[in-house]
Amino acid sequence: MPDTIADALGQLEQDYIKRTPKSQAAIRDACEVMPGGDTRCVLNFPPHPIVVASGEGSVITDVDGNEYRDFLNDFSAGLYGHSNERIQAAIRQAISEGLTLGGINRYESQFARVLVERFPALELVRFTNSGTEANMMAIATARKATGQDKILVMRGGYHGNSIYLSELASRTNAPYDFVIGTFNDLEGTEAAIGKNRKKLAAILVEPMMGASGCIPGNPEFLRGLRQIADETGAVLIFDEVMTSRLGSTGAHGLFDVAPDMMTCGKFLGGGGTFGAFGGSARLMGMLDVRGTNPILHGGTFNNNVITMAAGLTGLRDIYTPQVASEFYSTGNQFREDLNAIAKEQQVKAQMTGMGSLLSFHCHGRPVRTLAEAGGVSSKVTDLLHMALLHRGIYIARRGYASLSLVNDESDRDAFKEAFADVLATYRDLFNEVAQAAEQALH
Ligand code: PLP
Repeated sequence: MPDTIADALGQLEQDYIKRTPKSQAAIRDACEVMPGGDTRCVLNFPPHPIVVASGEGSVITDVDGNEYRDFLNDFSAGLYGHSNERIQAAIRQAISEGLTLGGINRYESQFARVLVERFPALELVRFTNSGTEANMMAIATARKATGQDKILVMRGGYHGNSIYLSELASRTNAPYDFVIGTFNDLEGTEAAIGKNRKKLAAILVEPMMGASGCIPGNPEFLRGLRQIADETGAVLIFDEVMTSRLGSTGAHGLFDVAPDMMTCGKFLGGGGTFGAFGGSARLMGMLDVRGTNPILHGGTFNNNVITMAAGLTGLRDIYTPQVASEFYSTGNQFREDLNAIAKEQQVKAQMTGMGSLLSFHCHGRPVRTLAEAGGVSSKVTDLLHMALLHRGIYIARRGYASLSLVNDESDRDAFKEAFADVLATYRDLFNEVAQAAEQALH
């Protein structure tokens, strides 16, 4: 076994370079016209990312012909797999009737109705092109409703490219007046609010912190936020861009906490660019152009027929409430199996998350807060990523994975086998990191 993580990564990278010459050349060419050769930073990794040529079912194939079982699934946007025939047929039908119609089309209200029937938090809903925009529009609605400007968010929260509560995002964030609380720590959050209690327009929170390491919300914490909203008049917004896939009603249904608004994105677009925000008729009614002084909501592609048709077919015909409930159990079982494997392999590591969303942490202590997660991006997750790639499994660089509906038992078994093999191969390296992480918190 290599002595250090850097040595282990070095060996894996050498092999990777040999297996991916066409990806390497394509990225080199792309660098001539795009910074880093990509247009979405999170997909890039050293020595060069794979360039994906195609996807079918649960498998993606790179331009060198290497096949990978896909457990990234486009950061959870790819719920339906890469070639669902019903979704492909719906898109073909929609485009055969014309693109960019520039009018209200026959799909959008059907899709809205299925969403409103599915999610308890939605009485009225509007579409956007991304989860980021959905959150920005929900904030705009809350500001208008309350006449206030301050937005309570959680340190480490990810609400899109313009609302990321991390040091990394200081240049890309929109200039909101944030009050920054601590996820799953009601006292700490109350202290952060301090004198701003009456100035809050919104409380924006992920019911499960996704990008910061799949840390499930504590129901008491979420109920506490509900109470703060009730007391202050702030609008409670659940960002369910990731979590709306959990169970038959999304995370707010699972936790039985009723937000005033929810935002969604990713898989609900059936593979098309997508976001949506909605909530009570009172709040969403402020976007009604028939009223006085409405909130103006634009977006050329908000109702593009490709997304509308794909999303409608997906939610109505494929991801039915029953399928969603069963899938939630499948995901929980998968995560429990992976954690049992870590124990068997005597590696102090774990997968956290809910249902079909999971994230790797290289230590054995509980992960309830961002501090306890101890950072999701480190050399050890780089090693996990490269070592799984080497074994034909594709996940995110930061150790995040999500299941799609077509990651069947054989895919899940292959992942478990590869995970066990990676932990056994690099046991001492993982345990060194785990020990350091556990000491750091004492
Ligand atoms: N909110 C959450 C919780 C997310 O995970 C994401 C994307 O990862 C977003 C918002 C932003 O969505 P989009 O990338 O569609 O703008």
